[in-house]
Amino acid sequence: MQSKSLYFAGLDIGGSTIKAVLVDAQAAQVGSLVEVRSLVKDGYEATFGQLEQALEQLAAGACIQRGAIAGVGLDVPAPSSDGVIWGRANLGDDWVGVNIRESLSARLGVPVFMTNDGNAAAVGEYALRTAYNSSLMLVAPGTGLAGGLVLPGGRCYDGVNGLALEAGHVSVPFREDDGSLPLCSCGLTGCAEAWVSLVALRRRLGLELAKPQWAAHPLNQTAASIEEKAFRLRDFAQQGDELAVSVFRQQGFIFGYLIADLVRVFDPGLVVIGGGLAETSFRDLYMSWIEEGFAERAWPVYRFSPIEPDKATTRFEWAIGGDAAAAIGMAFAARELFQ
Ligand SMILES: [Zn+2]
Repeated sequence: MQSKSLYFAGLDIGGSTIKAVLVDAQAAQVGSLVEVRSLVKDGYEATFGQLEQALEQLAAGACIQRGAIAGVGLDVPAPSSDGVIWGRANLGDDWVGVNIRESLSARLGVPVFMTNDGNAAAVGEYALRTAYNSSLMLVAPGTGLAGGLVLPGGRCYDGVNGLALEAGHVSVPFREDDGSLPLCSCGLTGCAEAWVSLVALRRRLGLELAKPQWAAHPLNQTAASIEEKAFRLRDFAQQGDELAVSVFRQQGFIFGYLIADLVRVFDPGLVVIGGGLAETSFRDLYMSWIEEGFAERAWPVYRFSPIEPDKATTRFEWAIGGDAAAAIGMAFAARELFQ
């Protein structure tokens, strides 16, 4: 007799959309990515309604009953400890202090696994590399600088407070031209995120454009906001513009330097670079700057094997999951845990 087919759903709660993915018992994705509007600002009950809607759409897309979904992986853009959200981040007021994992599990009638979005994306990158089963570290510059560590077998290490791999807030020994340390969004100074993030890029660009050497630069001939100028900087870098290249080169170098210290702690073997840079046409150049910074700081053994000198011990790859990585990771995690 054929056993009943089971399915597992990954739900990724973002600020504007909820993304959802379904996998079967063999971890193969079934149907396509589902997106529904996120209502995080309206509270967790409203968001649960949206999650149920996403599950209904997943089931309909796969031509199965919703009851065939045997477990759910959920990622939330806020820190949590054992299912309880303890930091508001960009959520509505009522989330904090609630055991979201248990509440959702009770409402859906299936077990729920929960972590944050950085960890979820790391698990997604692991899940998509079906031939790879060693450890993987994801570092992803965006507005901030997120990270995640996946252990062999696919479990993420998220720490007691859900705060492991806060890679952006590791200090790096770089200073501004006047000798000061840049202020980070976390309140500390000298964090990697204050050099390697979109926020850092805007600050850096503003400082550079104020220098006499760039007075005639096209970005100094426009009344656009610094946000708009930073957005356009990628196009300039793609065209080989000297200012844009110098800004991204410094960022990539410091990023590589940071990664060398993270590798010294975790020795993951595979470092996946996420964030929007994965989609730029100068990404090969950016990767070479990361590797420059890495080479500056990493011991030789983290670059090439002491046993097989031609074999790289730390490989770098771009992320391949795009903005579906977190949902894919949570579907994979649910299947691993609840099958
Ligand atoms: Zn910081």
